[in-house]
Amino acid sequence: MTDSTSQTGAAAGRDYRSTVFLPNTAFPMRGDLPKKEPAMLARWEAMDLWGMLRAKSKGRTPFILHDGPPYANGNLHIGTALNKILKDVVNRARQMGGYDANYIPGWDCHGLPIEWKIEEQYRADKRDKDAVPVLDFRAECRAYAAHWMGVQEAEFRRLGVLGDWPNRYATMDLPSEAAISAEIGRFLMNGALYRGLRPVMWSPVEKTALAEAEIEYHDHTSHTVTVRFPIVECPVAGLTGAAILIWTTTPWTMPGNRAIALGEDIDYAVVRIDSVKEGSLAVPGERVLVALALLPQFCETAGVETHHLLHLHKGVELLGTVCAHPMRGRGYDHNVVVYSAEYVTTEAGTGFVHIAPGHGEEDFELGRLHGIEVPDTVGEDGTFNAWVPHFAGLHVYRAADAVCAALREAGGLMARGRLVHSYPHSWRSKAPLIFRATPQWFIRMDGPEAIRAKALQAIADTVFVPDQGRRRIGAMVASRPDWCISRQRAWGVPIAVFVERASGQVLRDQAVIDRITDAFRTEGADAWYSSPAARFLGEGRDPAAYEQVFDIVDVWFESGSTHAFVLEARGLPWPADLYLEGSDQHRGWFHSSLLESVGTRGVAPFKAVLTHGFVMDEQGRKMSKSLGNVVAPDEVTSTLGADILRLWVMSSDTSEDMRIGREILKQTAELYRRLRNTLRWLLGALEGFSAAEQVAEADMPELERWVLHRVAEIDAQIRGAVESHDWTGVYAAIHGFCSADLSAFYFDIRKDALYCDRPDSLRRRAARTVLDHLHRCLCTWLAPVLVFTAEEAWTARFGADDSVHLHDFPTIPAAWHDPALGAKWAEIRELRRLATTELEAMRGEKRIGSSNQAVVTLALPDAQAGLLSSGAWADILIVAGATVHTAVTASAHAAVAPGSKCERCWKVLPEVGQTPAHPMLCLRCADAVESGLVGAA
Ligand SMILES: [Zn+2]
Repeated sequence: MTDSTSQTGAAAGRDYRSTVFLPNTAFPMRGDLPKKEPAMLARWEAMDLWGMLRAKSKGRTPFILHDGPPYANGNLHIGTALNKILKDVVNRARQMGGYDANYIPGWDCHGLPIEWKIEEQYRADKRDKDAVPVLDFRAECRAYAAHWMGVQEAEFRRLGVLGDWPNRYATMDLPSEAAISAEIGRFLMNGALYRGLRPVMWSPVEKTALAEAEIEYHDHTSHTVTVRFPIVECPVAGLTGAAILIWTTTPWTMPGNRAIALGEDIDYAVVRIDSVKEGSLAVPGERVLVALALLPQFCETAGVETHHLLHLHKGVELLGTVCAHPMRGRGYDHNVVVYSAEYVTTEAGTGFVHIAPGHGEEDFELGRLHGIEVPDTVGEDGTFNAWVPHFAGLHVYRAADAVCAALREAGGLMARGRLVHSYPHSWRSKAPLIFRATPQWFIRMDGPEAIRAKALQAIADTVFVPDQGRRRIGAMVASRPDWCISRQRAWGVPIAVFVERASGQVLRDQAVIDRITDAFRTEGADAWYSSPAARFLGEGRDPAAYEQVFDIVDVWFESGSTHAFVLEARGLPWPADLYLEGSDQHRGWFHSSLLESVGTRGVAPFKAVLTHGFVMDEQGRKMSKSLGNVVAPDEVTSTLGADILRLWVMSSDTSEDMRIGREILKQTAELYRRLRNTLRWLLGALEGFSAAEQVAEADMPELERWVLHRVAEIDAQIRGAVESHDWTGVYAAIHGFCSADLSAFYFDIRKDALYCDRPDSLRRRAARTVLDHLHRCLCTWLAPVLVFTAEEAWTARFGADDSVHLHDFPTIPAAWHDPALGAKWAEIRELRRLATTELEAMRGEKRIGSSNQAVVTLALPDAQAGLLSSGAWADILIVAGATVHTAVTASAHAAVAPGSKCERCWKVLPEVGQTPAHPMLCLRCADAVESGLVGAA
């Protein structure tokens, strides 16, 4: 290959260096991004790039990527940065693909994590939260969220994320609070909202119900008990006096026991215990019922030495059996009936499941099926309520001994042990959770509103990228319980409803909802706390007759309502074209947005859902402070530049989990360097290019037409991704095009023509025309990702008044796409490899310095002999000459070229010396110099 830095052509007689068109550009080799990027951001700000884009896009088809709001409580982490960069790339590419992509970034501001931070400050300052007026507390939370919104906005903008920042949305904006409250009002009026006592995942530490997304699972040591339930009535004769055994890992739920569940097809053994080990609580002579499959395990657990199996019964035979509570006579005198439940298995325990409707979802459902009242046994702080016999005031975490003692005293305890198992904990406080029956507000899934059925239909109607997201969210929606939307906290939007004290009925009156919404719009949700109830109830209603509800709504409901106050309220197209978040949002934001929209509007708020994976370290581990493997986005931007982070995002397979770390960033920086060099070389080779030089595609050499064909192929790939949202592999294809097709092939071949041909030669003009197309295409194609570098490479040619971001992807003429030519050149490149292998060998043996000093003889089968002329082959192989003859199989032979080295182009040719005026030049070079078009010789 010709090396631009060493082609100095110092000759004995004349120096032809100045007659060679070496690439020349002020575009620097080094990116120097950390320094340049902020200046470029300031320039876009000053020129109002965003405003110019909106003005230019008027009348285009709108594209709405609705921003899932990040939570405003800390610096960006790499996952949030990844998400926002991906959104930015999708938006920019849509915009450049001919759409009007208006993007309104937003934030999620209410909720427990911020409240928790403020409470932490209180604890540090030894202040009592309960002594602070609620409005003051809410004001502190608001200030905290506002601070972090500002910090995050600056960080997002530094990453190059373009959007309508001045008009960003926030769930705590006063109109947003009004809109969220109005959405609750819609559920109130359509009947789906109800209050019910039911078990929810409850944190006794934070004193609130938690959403699924706020729960994490850790190992926890639980007390286990095996308990006798004496049979008092049984459809099977002779079993009265025997005991059904249950096993549980939550002894504290025994006061809440109201039933027993069994499996209808399970074989149950009636066993007489004959002898027991020392210390066993089993009694020789007693009869117990246990699943046959679990009998050996039971004997081991309970210390039973010998026993007789008396009878076997299918579960279905035992249905309707009535037992006494194991603490009967001690305040627990209700009957305990045996029911069947499909979820009972013989995997662990005794094959009978104790049912406490206040302490488990399945327990609750079984209780509801059989009309069992839900007992209210545990208070919000995790202690037993005052009316619970024996255990009032005791904390459930510390109740195991007391419950066991009471059971033992009553003769109910059969065995006791411990078990380490995975158990739900609060994501925030790390404290173990309990299922607790509480009065909560719910949105019904299966009422007349048919939210579940509509949601499943909406999922079927939505595009998921990748498609497995459809099954994930579909399975969740199909099996989820009613949506619990209440929280017993202070920082949020209240569920602003009234309950009539006399009837217990919730007040459904649109006029009341409207008064509340109007007040919130100007005063915010604080109005609920600062105004008398009469203001909302209106004339003719006695405030004393109504309970004002002060629960707040779950933040997932709030973010699930953003489509209403960001899109609808601003007159933007609805539903959104795209929601784009991490794959965990199938149970988070996608899920709550879907239910909220389906419940109020009957359809999903999105047409398509795109998900991405999570970011791991280089070894595939989660990032954590303790591992010291955290990669902070601002660290990358300040050392390498935002373009490097953006390039990392788009060179990763975002549908899977991604990895990042020092080594991977180094590789990304190297990838960047190669892309930058491609742009730099293009700029250098295009120096002084003018429209007058242009050559029509039809008049170009085949090599140029092949490059244009490849351009058409990449263009099609990009436009496909713009429409499908699937960007997997697109930027890898662009990079492959730059390195394999351009740098290592096309540029290499055409350097000779570009540097040494007369400027009016068709070959050189055609090449420069193609380079012009390439520069425009590459700058625009790369612009959504390398927002800074593409701009730099664009303005280097077209001036600082222009911006690549104001341009669309170039429209590629249909004629450029030529699959037959593509196939032909794939074959040519295959054959070329035969010759380059030979030339490499010669260079290795130091027989030649560059390939220009060699000639190649190609032996080609008939079908391939006519692919190219020998002159074209010489160009493609970058050799002094080529000859082609036919043979049975293809082969290449290289030899040292005869003749002398042209001092201008370095080709070794016999003709060098034929021009008397320029005895050191070949004919082409002599002509070029004589033409007077190539600079002073
Ligand atoms: Zn020459």
